[in-house]
Amino acid sequence: MLKGKTAVVTGGSRGIGKAIALHFAAQGANVAILYAGNTAAAQTAEEELLALGVRAKAYQCDVSDFESCKTICKQITQELGPVDILVNNAGIVRDKLVPLMKEDDFDAVLATNLKGAFNMTKNLYSNFIRKKSGRIINITSVVGLMGNPGQANYAAAKAGLIGFSKSVAKELAGKNVTCNCIAPGFIETDMTANLDEKTRSFYEQNIPLGHMGQAADIANLAAFLGLDAVGYITGEVIRVDGGLCM
Ligand code: NAP
Repeated sequence: MLKGKTAVVTGGSRGIGKAIALHFAAQGANVAILYAGNTAAAQTAEEELLALGVRAKAYQCDVSDFESCKTICKQITQELGPVDILVNNAGIVRDKLVPLMKEDDFDAVLATNLKGAFNMTKNLYSNFIRKKSGRIINITSVVGLMGNPGQANYAAAKAGLIGFSKSVAKELAGKNVTCNCIAPGFIETDMTANLDEKTRSFYEQNIPLGHMGQAADIANLAAFLGLDAVGYITGEVIRVDGGLCM
């Protein structure tokens, strides 16, 4: 159970992040969700969280912007209390083969998917040091482990996130703070909704379990990694991919 814990989930208004936030709240955690610009989705998520009887609030914050993260982290700790669990989940894709990939496509994906995790972790670092406990969960991707044509920017960011997480895990181990990665495979969310039939059936044929995953599959593992009792796993990358990347 996560009763009384305070969790921050970036990108918690839709998809995987929303499933994680709802799962945390269902276990009694108070939850702050961060979103980029879709206020309607964030309001809906906030209402669904509040309906579970916990304290919850949606904060608009571009995780790629260091100063915004600094402001929001301060506001969250003032409004919801010290943070026990940080989930760096916000992510975007700008898929193109390298010859067609613009510099901005590369920079934007790195800024959100990798630097966003740094911005949030750095701004909550002293919070975790003071608490002498905590859970940091970073959502990477199997693409960061195996690469994918058309996703050089995304794969670089997700692989970078793994190195970042292992370093943070070592830095904070002495403070009883764990830092782990979840590497989802092919999960049904808005991010994968527009994939063409050919790509979709290629993936489905290559997933040993035979089907795409659900956001809840990721949320189940995030809730497990968030538990106080799960304090001896750190610096780990756990795939939730139906066997795709075995
Ligand atoms: P999604 O459905 O597209 O949702 C993305 C969420 O991130 C939204 O809440 C969005 O907010 C937020 N967001 C995007 N850019 C942001 C920014 N700069 N600052 C703050 N929030 C931002 O994505 P998803 O499929 O749930 O993916 C979640 C994470 O899992 C990502 O890191 C993704 O790379 C990873 N992942 C997904 C899959 C998959 O198959 N879906 C596989 C492997 C890894 P707005 O709604 O306001 O834009």
